[in-house]
Amino acid sequence: MHNEFIHQQRIAYFTMEIALKSDIPTYSGGLGVLAGDVIRAGADIQLPLVAVSLVSRAGYFRQQISNGRQIEHPDIWDPARWAVPLDAKIAVNIEGREVWVRGWLYVLKGHLGGQEPVILLDTDLDENREDDRQITHYLYGGDTVYRLKQEIVLGIGGLRMLHALGFQIRQYHMNEGHSALLALELLRRYARFEDEEGIELSYDIPMVRELCNFTTHTPVEAGHDKFPYPLVESQLRDYMDFSEIRQLAGEDYLNMTRLALNLSEYVNGVAMSHARISQKMYPGYHVHAITNGVHPHTWTCRSFAALYDRYLPGWCHEPQLLVRVDQIPDELIWGAHAEAKAALLEKVEALSGIRFDPDIPVFGFARRMTEYKRPDLLFSDLERIRRIAKNQPFQLVMAGKAHPKDENGRRLIALLHEHLASVSDCVKSAFLSNYDMDLALSMVSGVDVWLNTPLRPLEASGTSGMKAAFNGIPSLSVLDGWWLEGCIEGVTGWAVGDDSDRSNGTDAGFLYEKLEKTVLPLYHDDRKAWITIMKNAIGKNASYFNSHRMMRRYATEAYIR
Ligand SMILES: *Cc1c(COP(=O)(O)O)cnc(C)c1O
Repeated sequence: MHNEFIHQQRIAYFTMEIALKSDIPTYSGGLGVLAGDVIRAGADIQLPLVAVSLVSRAGYFRQQISNGRQIEHPDIWDPARWAVPLDAKIAVNIEGREVWVRGWLYVLKGHLGGQEPVILLDTDLDENREDDRQITHYLYGGDTVYRLKQEIVLGIGGLRMLHALGFQIRQYHMNEGHSALLALELLRRYARFEDEEGIELSYDIPMVRELCNFTTHTPVEAGHDKFPYPLVESQLRDYMDFSEIRQLAGEDYLNMTRLALNLSEYVNGVAMSHARISQKMYPGYHVHAITNGVHPHTWTCRSFAALYDRYLPGWCHEPQLLVRVDQIPDELIWGAHAEAKAALLEKVEALSGIRFDPDIPVFGFARRMTEYKRPDLLFSDLERIRRIAKNQPFQLVMAGKAHPKDENGRRLIALLHEHLASVSDCVKSAFLSNYDMDLALSMVSGVDVWLNTPLRPLEASGTSGMKAAFNGIPSLSVLDGWWLEGCIEGVTGWAVGDDSDRSNGTDAGFLYEKLEKTVLPLYHDDRKAWITIMKNAIGKNASYFNSHRMMRRYATEAYIR
């Protein structure tokens, strides 16, 4: 192991997925992008971290759209191209067999000169049985048994790997519950026998809690892994007496969220409102609220980065400097935006063959395609859309993958294609396939308005609207997640909906109303007022909803005990 990484104590950040770059498909969506931004921020602010994740050799998947249907292809990547194999090898016992795990070292190099190690765990070794070699292949693939095997490798294997490599870890951070078995491994490591015969085993729970931090990311039930104890006992034979930890991990199932909650001194939700909701879901625990943020340099397009470099030097280290965005002349803001928009429209044409008009506003919507995100809300009333677009034209770019097993998500993609086709006489549109980090940056910087219409309160945070803010793009969004903290009506963007009635029909009505009466008239009639809103998105949202603030808070409030 490189000495530079083990000579100082680090925070170990465990995550099932991580978005390092578009070419490394080890992520599926917001959770992985956040993990990448955490490590990128660490590199910029000199906070020593080490990330632990799975190598996911088969990638998440590459999305092809054929006749409006999503087709999934494996997205195989070669770790040797980007990472170096480490010598250390450790074993975990799964189903009574030794499964060997090796690590790849990916060095994340920040653009300000900082570096952070990322360890990608890999079971694809000659020593292992054929099926065991595939444990680290498919991100979120397979069944419950497969998932548990992956989580054994991540939590238990990851901890052993850090140890074998000589890392000195001062704190552990679990990004979601997937890695919570690391806390069990810590319990075992610090276990003591009470008497000399070794009869009474006792776990040092306070000691483990002192070392652990946990961020919960979703109030959606399917996002919380639960494993039946008989399955756990057959996978982790002779690991421990699981009847002793039911109070910690759940009586009926081994519940990864419970385990993480009980064994972490610091628990965090990803926005203020999500922390309150989590607090209600888990009475008896204290859920803190460090609201998510995005990495400034990664999520700012070239033209805006050049402007900030010139007028607000230092913004990449201290994004609060963006509060001084009024230093930048309006015409340069508009010019930087025009450049980003032209680049997106070029991409749209290259990918879809459709030529958009640069003078007509473009609305963007892209995220994981799943039911609660309601990508179809905009299409609740097709006649209304036609009516609006005839008087005040607009264009639409969409993207997003559905998890291969999410039938509703896949159906939504097909439905969106039908809707887009049926309004094509009035609204120019494109659905771009294979949403990834590169496409995300093109979209959040090249559209004019970023749309988000989730079902409240299921959007824990959401981060793509924050990325848009770095590029001067205001959001038109349902008031949920981060937008509850970021929206100042008519100043940083616009809210959709009314708390007294959260139904689809009512939300859609609000959306059309805002589009027709507020957003489109402003865009078409008052360029100066529009640019003021763009500047407010930068000065009031990007200056705050960034990864540096997030990580400085984790450092002072969670990691330093
Ligand atoms: C930012 C990002 C997401 C998450 O976006 P949300 O607004 O939080 O849903 C998902 N996928 C990719 C590729 C991203 O860049």
